Amino acid sequence: MAKKRDLPRICIALGLPDLDQLLEQARREAEAGETFLEFRLDYLENPTRGAEAIAGFLREFPECTILATCRRHQNHGRFNGGTDDQFHILELAIRSGAHAVDVEIETAEVAAAKMAALRAQAQVIISYHNYENTPRLDPVIDRLTAVPADAYKLVTTARKLSDTGRVLAAGKASGRTAMIVLAMGELGFPSRVLSPAFGGIFTYAAPILAEGTAAGQVCARQLRHLYRIDKLTKAAKVYGVIADPVRHSISPAVHNRAFQSRRIDAVYLPFLVPPPQLRDFFAFANSTPVTGFSVTIPHKQKIMRYLDVIDPLARRIGAVNTVWKKAGKWRGTNTDAAGVVKPLEKLMRLAKASVLIVGNGGAARGAACALADAGANVSLTGRNPDRVRALARFCSGEAIPREQLNGRKFDALVHATPMGMFPHSNECFFDGDIPAEVVFDMVYNPLETVLIQRSKEQGKTVIPGIQMFIEQAVKQFETWTGETAPRSVMEKAALEALDQKAFDPKALETKS
Ligand code: NAP
Repeated sequence: MAKKRDLPRICIALGLPDLDQLLEQARREAEAGETFLEFRLDYLENPTRGAEAIAGFLREFPECTILATCRRHQNHGRFNGGTDDQFHILELAIRSGAHAVDVEIETAEVAAAKMAALRAQAQVIISYHNYENTPRLDPVIDRLTAVPADAYKLVTTARKLSDTGRVLAAGKASGRTAMIVLAMGELGFPSRVLSPAFGGIFTYAAPILAEGTAAGQVCARQLRHLYRIDKLTKAAKVYGVIADPVRHSISPAVHNRAFQSRRIDAVYLPFLVPPPQLRDFFAFANSTPVTGFSVTIPHKQKIMRYLDVIDPLARRIGAVNTVWKKAGKWRGTNTDAAGVVKPLEKLMRLAKASVLIVGNGGAARGAACALADAGANVSLTGRNPDRVRALARFCSGEAIPREQLNGRKFDALVHATPMGMFPHSNECFFDGDIPAEVVFDMVYNPLETVLIQRSKEQGKTVIPGIQMFIEQAVKQFETWTGETAPRSVMEKAALEALDQKAFDPKALETKS
């Protein structure tokens, strides 16, 4: 029988139908340095053989802690036998060296004597799973803790971020009761990162290069290296980006690396916020230590109605991309504007410079305000003449119909539409001559858009969109932390996140 021991912070859940595959995956994890593995015996065609195999695995990797689970299919598992068979397999797993077993509440509450016998031999976790939603949690916790165990696992499905907030709060309020708390699904993702810092005894991760056993699981490498869950303390500040979709965002890669570089006890998470759930996001943000967040599509305008203080530039632009909490008040600003002005200022005096902006959406509006404030003569063009005219009136600029651009020349051009952005990477607003000497493309995925390529071919000086991204992220970091941002670290992280296999610092430079 294995001795009871403290459980590590990350448990790799291994659910595979074939024992050889399970052992191969377990070895791969152990060789990568993971020390806590869950053997989902119920996933195996022959769970008994799986339980027996634990002994051999532990002879090879004695530093590993094994959690054995054989959940019945009635209770969201895959084991087809009765409870007697289930306990028989779990006991066999313990005799083979498993340090802990997970028994679902539906089985545990009808088998008190068998549970007590298991507890005498190993750590027993009693688990509750809800694949539909997150119900009221107090009755669930009362039900779980009515059966004696070493730890209790509460796993629900998040339908909105405030569900995730409630699950995390349950972990925080658990006091001396050892709990594992998680919300499944993309909306529950923050719980996978935050639960150990918020009182949960461990979190689950998916194996390397394989599917996890629950929606929203990511691999341990990401939890450790990107989100640094081993380093976060109870006092960690929480930041993030709200968007829908949010998966594609490179902001978590950039800001987490910046926090790491400055040794700040903080984490930056992707928060999926569907448009009807913006109010709910604030219920979550007010119940967790969310201290600031980035705002992107589709929330930049609507967010304004939920903020207490908005700075004059953001109010004039009509869009906020950066929010933080100060003295209990949510404040908003717009760092996209600085992201346009700063790279251009390095190349020219903006006062009296002629600048053509392509587009009339939020980013174009921010650029128009910031450039007009800097004294530039702003012209606008786009595919929708009415909207272009409206924006031109707003910033006292000139609206130029697309077909009348021939023969016109500008000092700089700022492209602010999604044309050329992945997956429409072959699109470009200009077929022939590009009417400016300096060409700034806001699109940064791909790093080198067709517009940037054509501009270079025509001998122009180019500013790739990643420069704007870095500039606005630097300003966000400094607004939130009051510290100087580690710019080069953030640039490198952005390029890596954009899957630039070979890091090429030249990709960030202005090219002429
Ligand atoms: P938005 O509010 O949705 O506006 C998009 C604009 O593009 C609108 O003017 C729209 O015209 C126009 N447009 C869309 N598809 C077009 C097409 N096929 N042909 C011509 N015009 C088209 O978006 P946004 O927030 O302004 O963002 C615009 C671009 O800037 C995006 O690619 C975004 O990723 C990028 N951006 C980059 C950064 C950065 O840090 N580098 C920051 C912010 C934004 P209609 O009005 O006719 O629909």
